[in-house]
Amino acid sequence: MEDSYRHKGMRRQLVKVVRSKGIKDESILAAIGKIPRHFFLMDSALMEHAYDDKAFPIGEGQTISQPYTVAFQTELLQVKPGEKVLEIGTGSGYQAIVLLEMGAKLYTIEYQKKLYERTKVFLPQLGYKANFFYGDGSMGLKRFAPYDKIIVTAGAPTVPTALIDQLSIGGMLVIPVGNAKTQKMLRLTKVAPGKLRKEEFHDFKFVPLLGEDGWKGK
Ligand code: SAM
Repeated sequence: MEDSYRHKGMRRQLVKVVRSKGIKDESILAAIGKIPRHFFLMDSALMEHAYDDKAFPIGEGQTISQPYTVAFQTELLQVKPGEKVLEIGTGSGYQAIVLLEMGAKLYTIEYQKKLYERTKVFLPQLGYKANFFYGDGSMGLKRFAPYDKIIVTAGAPTVPTALIDQLSIGGMLVIPVGNAKTQKMLRLTKVAPGKLRKEEFHDFKFVPLLGEDGWKGK
């Protein structure tokens, strides 16, 4: 697939839009300016809109998140180079690449087998290395815990306890929590063993977090 001057121009425009919505972290804006988002859209009819600040279908009833949402969650997560990050909901891999561009050592888990299989092949083809897993991320990924940061890219009914357990001390979890229609973005910081600081941000709309401690268990 080609990454033309026209695509690059559209990306610069997208960066302006995301910046105008309040994203300040230059490294996140640089990542959005670098990643060819049109490579991630499955439907050629959508290619023209790849750099609109919108979510799009990626198959299996799932979506690639809106770039502003990706940037907002990444900014809240405050990823530093070398940090161990767990992403719940690999999806297209776009958010994963933004985290890798921030220098994360990334573990990412996806519930839909077809998306897992596609993305674990596609990201290395683009030159990005991550640890890909297929399974229920509402239970976290205990084998490699604890994590410095955890990001959930699907809407949860409640905060899954496994994710809190698998955070290191000082670690942060960014997760949208709410009902099927709207979810509030939360940032939970594990300030000491058994002690969390909770911050609330504005509302978003995500596809549902499935699995035992997602909507299936409710
Ligand atoms: N980060 C993705 C991206 O950049 O394309 C966002 C994809 S979409 C908004 C959310 C993803 O979460 C979907 O791919 C969905 O299949 C996945 N998902 C939902 N419930 C899950 C669960 N329990 N464990 C792992 N992934 C889950």
